[in-house]
Amino acid sequence: MWLDHVESSDAPQARIACALSSPGNAKLLRRLLTGRYQLTEAFDERLQDDDHSRFDIVLVDPLSLEYLRDRLRRYRERCSPVVLPVLLLVTGSQTPASWIRQELGHTVDDVLRIPATEIELTARVENMLRLRSLSLLQSATGRERDNVVRALRTLNTCDEILVRAREEEGLLARICQAIVATEGYRLAWIGFALDGPDRQLAIQASAGPARGYLDGVRVHWRSGVLASALQSRQTQVVTDITEDPERMLSSVRAREFNLRSVIVLPLPLHGGTLGCLVIYSEHVGHFDREPQQLLERLARNLCFGLRALHVYQESKRQAAEIRTLAYADSLTELPNRLSFLNHLRDRVTRWQEAGIAGAVLFIDLDSFKVVNDALGHQAGDQVLRWVGQRLRRLVRGSDVVARHGGDEFVVALSDVSRGRVRESDSVATKQAFQIKVQRIAERILQHLREPIRLGEHEHRQGASIGISLFPDHGDDADTLLERADTAMYEAKNGACGHICQFHGEILERRQQRLTLEGRLYQAIKSDQLTLHYQPIFRLDTLEITGVEALVRWPQPDGSLLSPAAFLPLAEETGMIVPLGEWVVATAARQLCAWRAAGHSLQMMVNLSVRQLHAAGEISGLADLVRPHVDPSAIEFEVTESALMPDPSTTEANLAALHAWGFRFAIDDFGTGYSSLSRIKDLPFQTLKIDRSFVSGSEHSGKGEAITRSIIQLARNLSLRTVGEGIETEQQCHFLREWGCEYGQGYWFSRPLPADDMARLLAAKVGRSV
Ligand code: C2E
Ligand code: CA
Ligand code: CA
Repeated sequence: MWLDHVESSDAPQARIACALSSPGNAKLLRRLLTGRYQLTEAFDERLQDDDHSRFDIVLVDPLSLEYLRDRLRRYRERCSPVVLPVLLLVTGSQTPASWIRQELGHTVDDVLRIPATEIELTARVENMLRLRSLSLLQSATGRERDNVVRALRTLNTCDEILVRAREEEGLLARICQAIVATEGYRLAWIGFALDGPDRQLAIQASAGPARGYLDGVRVHWRSGVLASALQSRQTQVVTDITEDPERMLSSVRAREFNLRSVIVLPLPLHGGTLGCLVIYSEHVGHFDREPQQLLERLARNLCFGLRALHVYQESKRQAAEIRTLAYADSLTELPNRLSFLNHLRDRVTRWQEAGIAGAVLFIDLDSFKVVNDALGHQAGDQVLRWVGQRLRRLVRGSDVVARHGGDEFVVALSDVSRGRVRESDSVATKQAFQIKVQRIAERILQHLREPIRLGEHEHRQGASIGISLFPDHGDDADTLLERADTAMYEAKNGACGHICQFHGEILERRQQRLTLEGRLYQAIKSDQLTLHYQPIFRLDTLEITGVEALVRWPQPDGSLLSPAAFLPLAEETGMIVPLGEWVVATAARQLCAWRAAGHSLQMMVNLSVRQLHAAGEISGLADLVRPHVDPSAIEFEVTESALMPDPSTTEANLAALHAWGFRFAIDDFGTGYSSLSRIKDLPFQTLKIDRSFVSGSEHSGKGEAITRSIIQLARNLSLRTVGEGIETEQQCHFLREWGCEYGQGYWFSRPLPADDMARLLAAKVGRSV
């Protein structure tokens, strides 16, 4: 029973637990304290309770202290660092001072001797209470400080994760784990708001012992604390979930998982995405001001980190795309030149380390331009892709195949058949590898020549291959590639068949070619070339009906360089176009002079493939000629092989030139593979039988039969025939017999300088047959 005591106060009354064995003392206390404090008598039973904050102070007398000592001590320990003050009430002389001293500071904090006055008692009780509230205050600040420290630690850990993050995947999970691990939170999760009327939240990551809370729950933000946070974009806190059940998705489940308070931090992410970070604590009121501020900072950093990550990943993606573009050839999907060089550098290092041999093959497609021009770029692309695939299949997977650019491919081969080369057998091994590489190159050529269907055409792709060997021809990637290229160049010039292995002389020759190229360029520019003219005569009357203009290049030493020595170079470098124009203009001017002198001649001018295919130059040819003679005075000689590659352009250009008035002869007939039906449709007036048939004509047999049928064919097509390279009277005779009308050759006259030719014409020298 408690005494009534009048003392009004708004503050909650302090709670005093009384454990007094003497009913008299209890009564006294009740009288003095009731009203001012809340008194509890059944104190000893409640000591079992886990709640450590049920009482503010305890009053005991020696007897009950003896009885309660252990429990009281445990209880006080559990309260620590909050002090639960114990005041011992002793009656007069009843208790020995030594006993009291023993208890003081251990089980009790103060002693009051009764009887005592009310003032005395309340003063003591108030002191005890002050001690209690001071300790409470201190512990609260300590807890708060701990919370802040932990939140800071979380922030730092998360920042570190964010700074190191390179991928979004896994990052959010690590953040959740860090939050839970450093703070000891029950649960942390991150969700992204999904579009749609049902406002779902897709959980991206979660961590914590209460993760099961989310199992089977459809998380939405239509109502409750999640909705408030995401709509207002402001942090929301539920201090005590039990008190605020309607703000939770499921307060029942929250209780089940011991979730007592929650904080929801909205995350405005990149691209308008809205997310939230949600953290649950097992303590009521955990997310007070300071942890909240720190967690908000964490959320801000997380947003920033994710945005930065997004930018980083985007730029990484772009960089990868650029790299792919920079290192791969999009047409063939092979590595490109740059990538090949990188690969080759790695290979060379490996070859060096492993002491094995290696090789670089430089493959250049023959007449690829012609395919491109004749059949269109799509066909060209098809060939390049096909070649790429072929090459890839012809070498081992570990070898590198790349497109060097245009119609050039490169291959790096390693000699993996043998291990490290011992000094003693290195020569034999090298030779064996050299032979193997040569065979691979041959196999490549052979496979490339297999027919490819390009629309209605069947194409056989030729190629030239240059080879350089490691370590003989170079010990670094750049040199090896350059030397394989140089060797390819030689192969292209027919210096060593279609496959050429690098050797020292090549460099020398290449140097000479470079010099020659420069000199030829100068020669064309400064009008140093000259034309010789070889007469074409009637086989029956030996009357000169025309001349063939043949270019010569006078050298400083007085010698003349024949076309074979410089025309291939001019063809290759494109110098043939200005050279050809010069020939046409000079020949036309010369013809004009001879015609003025009364010689009715036809001028035969050789036209190269390149000139014939350069459609832009076609009308230019007429412009070059017309100031001097009518185009019909000029007959262009075109070889069979020049007709082959690009039939439609060739036909169009021939037709255009023919429309200007030019005439055409088919040169070196019999050496190519022209289809007769095709020639029939082209504007040819003359057929020149190749020298090889003429020189064999004396010896009857196969050559004779062919020559006869060529002449017959020309007749059928109403073409006049010129036998080329007549060196003997007998050849002249045969040809005439077989029906050939015209001839040209050393027997009649070698090609002559213009002056000599003029003299020949003037003399009208004829030879009797
Ligand atoms: P081509 O058009 O077949 O010219 C005939 C070649 O045969 C000339 O060689 C000529 O000197 C040679 N020849 C003539 N009669 C005989 C003979 O009885 N016996 C032998 N063994 N050879 C004879 P050339 O002048 O060295 O010209 C070689 C080739 O160079 C020409 O062959 C022609 O395809 C080309 N060529 C020459 N001048 C030009 C030119 O101005 N433009 C172009 N595009 N090509 C030219
Ligand atoms: Ca000719
Ligand atoms: Ca010829």
